[in-house]
This record gives sequence, structure tokens and C-alpha cells, in this order.
Amino acid sequence: NTEKNKQWLQEYVDNWVTFFKKQTDTGKVADYIPKLEEADPDALGITIIGKGGMQIRSGDLNHSFSIQSISKVLSFIVACIDRGITYILQRVDVEPTGEAFNSIMHLQINNPKRPFNPLVNSGAITVSSLLNGNTSDEKLEPLFNLMEKIIGYRPEIDVDVYVSERDTSMRNRAIGYYLLEEGYLESDLGVTLETYFKQCSINITTDDLARIGLVLSNDGIHPDTEEIIIPKNVARIAKSLMLTCGMYDASGKFASYVGIPAKSGVSGGILAVVPPRVRNNDLPFLDGCGIGVFGPALDKQGNSVAGIKLLRHIANSWDMSVF
Ligand code: GLN
Repeated sequence: NTEKNKQWLQEYVDNWVTFFKKQTDTGKVADYIPKLEEADPDALGITIIGKGGMQIRSGDLNHSFSIQSISKVLSFIVACIDRGITYILQRVDVEPTGEAFNSIMHLQINNPKRPFNPLVNSGAITVSSLLNGNTSDEKLEPLFNLMEKIIGYRPEIDVDVYVSERDTSMRNRAIGYYLLEEGYLESDLGVTLETYFKQCSINITTDDLARIGLVLSNDGIHPDTEEIIIPKNVARIAKSLMLTCGMYDASGKFASYVGIPAKSGVSGGILAVVPPRVRNNDLPFLDGCGIGVFGPALDKQGNSVAGIKLLRHIANSWDMSVF
């Protein structure tokens, strides 16, 4: 019966991927980082991994892509593990901005004064400065270790993407100087930005994203080894941040129409977490799973056009919303 169910689910997903792949015309590949412009706008791939090793994989799966903003979730998690939740939350808030991820509009208005949340650039750059270590490589070591534990191999930085972003990102430098002026940064601005650009350039696949999603769904515990990889209280804050701030200034719509914690990146990736729900008895495999999506054509907010359509359709068909 499980086998039959799986085959049935696989066929559904294959059909939906084929359908939504043709619906990217309203989107555009990110071009503000020159290297990202080379992506195929019509690519669409998805991996769903449940507990017990059950997997559904469909579409363009042999693309690897830079993790971009999805790394903000992981650096926040690492910072909380290494420095303590209280310490981090005194320095970055947990409120959505309703503005673009790299907006400078909101920088002066939060009270108490600190960046609004770790998933917009001002908060993420601050978090990069709070990571332990004096160099970007030292700072990123625990992040690589965390990823390795989850995805089973040590991911690599795409040097071309890194250089491309480093040499063009004037906005992030402007944000960095503002943070420096306000005294938010704990490490040298150059090292902080290098850390941020490098973490955004880590190469991953939809399979990797689905594995990360599954660990978050499972309250930070690795589903195979039972090892606690992320403390439950850290995983919980990460998921609430994803739900309220993870899809940029479209987070409210995503929460309403899809209803699961997710984080997108400008290379077209989406990390999504489907929490366990007793109601899904007829599809037990989907009861607590991770989803990774890749579709580089983006909407105005910077989210994958086809990726959002696909997730919305899947979440509604299979009743995945947490609400
Ligand atoms: N590297 C990107 C930037 O800071 C990450 C942004 C994103 O994925 N939204 O501009």
C-alpha cells in the first residue's frame, strides 16, 4: 500500500512540475548579481523527503545552485547555538519588515534599536558578525559542520558567485556601514561582509534543502541518527521566523495561501518545512517532511514564480498548512 501510495504521489508531483514549468513567464532571473543571470529561467525541480527515507524527486534535479538568502536561517541557527538565543535576540529582533530584503528604509525605525529580523540583509549581516572567529573561514566553519551533518557531505562555495556578488553588492556595503555606525557589528566590517557573501554562495541542491527542512520539521533531530543537531527551542524560533519573514515582503501571502515555514533565495531556491500533523493519516509519509524547490525565474519580491505556484498547489492538495 505504501508503495502504491508513493507511486501515486510521484505521478502527481511529476504532472504538477510539468504543468508549472510552463508558467514562469511573469518571472525573471536575478541579474543584480551578474553570475546569477546565467541560470535557466525555465528550470523547475523539487525534492520531498519524509521520515523513514521516503523521497519524491521530480523535474530538473541535476542543477546545483547557490543557497543565497536561505543561508540566513542556518547562520542564525549557528549563532544561537554558539552564542545563546538570548544574546542573539538582544541584537536582532524577530519582527517582519514588510519591505524588500535589502531595503534600507527600516534601518532607523526599530525600537529598541536593532535590525528587525535575521532574515533581512541588515539582520543577517549583523548575525554574520556575531559568529565566532576572526576570519570569514573561521566564522563559517560551524555553519559548514552543521550543513555536513544534515546533508551528508561538506558543501562548497561557488567562487564565481562569491566574487560576482562581492564585487557588485554596493547595497550590502551601505547596509554594513550603517550597522557599523550604529555599533551593531562585533567583527570587522570587511570580515563580516566577506562572511555574508561567502555564506550566500554555498552550493546546494533541492535534495539538500529537503534534508534541512526535514531536520527542522523533526524539531532539530536527525531522522536517521536521532542526533540532536539543532536544539528544539532554536529550531522553533527559526521556523517562526521563516513563517513570518522567510518569503521577503510576500511572507503574509505565503503564510495565507501556502501556510508552511519557508525561506527563499534569489537564485530560485526555496526551503520548506512541513510539520507533523496527526490529520494526514492517509498520507503518513507527508506527515512531517522537508521540501526543497528550485526555479530561478523570480517575481518582484525575489521569490521563485514556479516554485511558489508548485508549493501552493501541493500544500493545498495535501492539506499541509499549519493553520
Ligand atoms: N546574496 C543576496 C544579497 O544579499 C542574498 C539575497 C537573497 O537571496 N534574497 O543580495
